[in-house]
Amino acid sequence: MVTNDLTFRLVSSSKGTNKLSHDGTLYIFHRGIFKKEWRCEIQTCKARVHSVDDLIVKMFGEHFHSKENGKEEVAIAKENLRKRARETHDNPHIAIGEETSSLSEAAKSLLPLQHALKLMYKRQRTVAPIPHSVEDLELNASDIKTLSDKNFLFYDSGPKPERIVMFATRENLDFLAMSSI
Ligand SMILES: [Zn+2]
Repeated sequence: MVTNDLTFRLVSSSKGTNKLSHDGTLYIFHRGIFKKEWRCEIQTCKARVHSVDDLIVKMFGEHFHSKENGKEEVAIAKENLRKRARETHDNPHIAIGEETSSLSEAAKSLLPLQHALKLMYKRQRTVAPIPHSVEDLELNASDIKTLSDKNFLFYDSGPKPERIVMFATRENLDFLAMSSI
């Protein structure tokens, strides 16, 4: 397929490096500062592109393999997911569902397994800074859940020196109430 579209987009990989995405193919940065040279991400493929700013200025070499549109879609979906993990408090399960449900069948077949995506998602979540006192502690009830997604922050008297915080689920307390001791 011949394309006249010389624009491209950059997709960041899990290692933080950028890949150039154009016409259903991903290219890996090779060298260059002003003019950047990229090589097809299939190692043995000779296709190359040169870019200046946000335009492709030169393309050469033929791809010997078929285009793997699915791969590009997957890379974009993963990038969106990582961004979402960093910038929102969305539940991983819901976020993954939303970012992957509209992918093509080809892309879906290339997606990592659900639990791998969840792991990737959770790794992007930034860890909150260590508080220096109970007053500094930032507790957001909607983030404090048990593994089975039940609310675990039962009571918080608020940020003050004699702060009282209680963690329990409703079931925990019911269980306690039934205890004879
Ligand atoms: Zn290629």
